Amino acid sequence: MAADAVTGFDADVAVVGLGAIGSSALWRLAARGLDVVGVEQHEPGHPWGGSHGRTRLFRVACLEHPGLTPIARRARDLWRELEAASGEPLLVQTGAVMIGQPGSRIIEGTLAAAAAHALPVERLDGAALAARAPAHARLDDGDVALWDPEAGVLRPEAAIVAAVDAARAAGARVRTGERVLAVEPDAEGVTIRLAGASLRVRRAVVTAGPWLPQLVPGLPITPHRVVMTWFDARDGHDASVDRLPVFIRSVPGTGGQHWIWGHGALPGDLAKVGPEFDGPFDADDPDAIDREVHAGETDGIRDLVAAALPDLEPEPAEAVTCIMAHTPDGQFVVGRTPASDRVVVAGGCSGHSFKHAAALGEAAAQLTVDEPPFADIGFLDPARFARP
Ligand SMILES: Cc1cc2nc3c(=O)[nH]c(=O)nc-3n(C[C@H](O)[C@H](O)[C@H](O)COP(=O)(O)OP(=O)(O)OC[C@H]3O[C@@H](n4cnc5c(N)ncnc54)[C@H](O)[C@@H]3O)c2cc1C
Repeated sequence: MAADAVTGFDADVAVVGLGAIGSSALWRLAARGLDVVGVEQHEPGHPWGGSHGRTRLFRVACLEHPGLTPIARRARDLWRELEAASGEPLLVQTGAVMIGQPGSRIIEGTLAAAAAHALPVERLDGAALAARAPAHARLDDGDVALWDPEAGVLRPEAAIVAAVDAARAAGARVRTGERVLAVEPDAEGVTIRLAGASLRVRRAVVTAGPWLPQLVPGLPITPHRVVMTWFDARDGHDASVDRLPVFIRSVPGTGGQHWIWGHGALPGDLAKVGPEFDGPFDADDPDAIDREVHAGETDGIRDLVAAALPDLEPEPAEAVTCIMAHTPDGQFVVGRTPASDRVVVAGGCSGHSFKHAAALGEAAAQLTVDEPPFADIGFLDPARFARP
């Protein structure tokens, strides 16, 4: 790629890492008419980062922070746009049931988001729960069930491929199988170091997921290996998504309450159920993740499934590793870096960013071109970690 002889730049913007957020940032920058290049170390939709495993939960009543609801809504519009462009179904609306004790974070967080944005979240009594999500009909004493009708299931690999294709269609250049070694901002631009080459750009968006701290030192992001698990129905039972729509549920288990999340089987697939991944988290090297799932690693989720979901065969039928990127407060980082306003970062998934990824890419694109973001994303600013 030859630099422009007049300006000396190879592109207006480089996007480093084309996973969930980066693929969208590339698309949204190209859609604004910028000359943009994306660099990805693998192929779009690959299984080595934080965005593989066939499905991700989508919710609008975001229990993690009421400020996430406008981001989820903007993301939904963009997912639908990508569906139309690609012809691929990316977001299946199923509704979600949230189950926990009154006062628990699942219930209070969901109600707070619903109240802040007048969402049509309903409280379900036993009969309504049995009608909407019969696989959960057996609840624990005192449990409350809430229904978020706008929730559903996203298809992450197809969504990433669709965003990269949309970016290409809008004029973006895409370099795959290339590793970025360093992102070096200075007063006039940013140098993107590759093996044996470099790119000179005016600005950069770094969306490297679990690898983000390697490229932007000082960001408090901890990459951590986790295991995803899928389950068959028991003989004679039905574990389809119609009986087990998207859910998050608090279940009593060893040492207290534990969260499980997941959804029933989509056509031709298995039900997926996972545990809440709560810290403290050891930092794992994303280049040296142990990809084997070892005996005993899935015993915890097996016991919770056995306790809560009697239609499922509790021994997992499939188990695959994935990498999360945790921040200290469980919220993402989206903003200019403290070191240079020529570099925008977006990542720090903390286990709940896929649903928002299309809109986080949009926000990263907006910050890069000095447009005001579509919603208040101040609570995601990486500068919050530098404040005393
Ligand atoms: C098990 C699990 C379950 C989850 N469940 C949900 C859920 O139900 N709902 C939800 O909303 N979210 C969920 N999440 C979170 C969500 O999947 C991730 O947050 C999100 O996909 C991460 O997106 P990202 O763009 O930050 O990172 P990634 O998608 O991992 O993208 C980073 C990309 O950068 C590339 N890259 C990195 N370094 C370099 C380099 N130096 N040079 C070139 N390329 C590079 C990587 O190869 C990768 O493609 C879950 C996460 C996990 C792990």
